Amino acid sequence: MTGTYPTDEYCIFCRIIARNAPAKLRYESEHVVAFDDHRPKAPTHVLICPKGHYPTFMETPDEVLAQLEAEIKIVAERLGVGERGFRMVVNNGRESGQLVFHLHYHLLAGTVMGF
Ligand code: 5GP
Ligand code: ZN
Repeated sequence: MTGTYPTDEYCIFCRIIARNAPAKLRYESEHVVAFDDHRPKAPTHVLICPKGHYPTFMETPDEVLAQLEAEIKIVAERLGVGERGFRMVVNNGRESGQLVFHLHYHLLAGTVMGF
């Protein structure tokens, strides 16, 4: 992967990544950002995205997914939830309830979660 990646000027997460929209950033690397969900559904609710604009999980190149998942481990450690546990959720496509079409993993933690 190079330092350049696809973007979409109308995408809210691309705007956050470009610092054109506000968010509470938790982590940033060359390829990945993590920031607080603005409507948290758990005490810790962080969205972890590739900097590249890939609308869905299915449309995301395998190497981007591999890099992202490796860095999710780092984010979880930095948030202090690596040991205690956390839930990861990825909505993929219309019927999943996906609302923002820039791939993101939800990391939810800080409470005991049932199904
Ligand atoms: P999805 O259903 O697409 O997986 O979830 C999108 C998530 O993004 C939701 O949990 C929603 O609260 C969050 N979200 C939507 N717009 C913004 C925003 O502008 N800033 C932040 N921080 N979170 C957002
Ligand atoms: Zn985007």
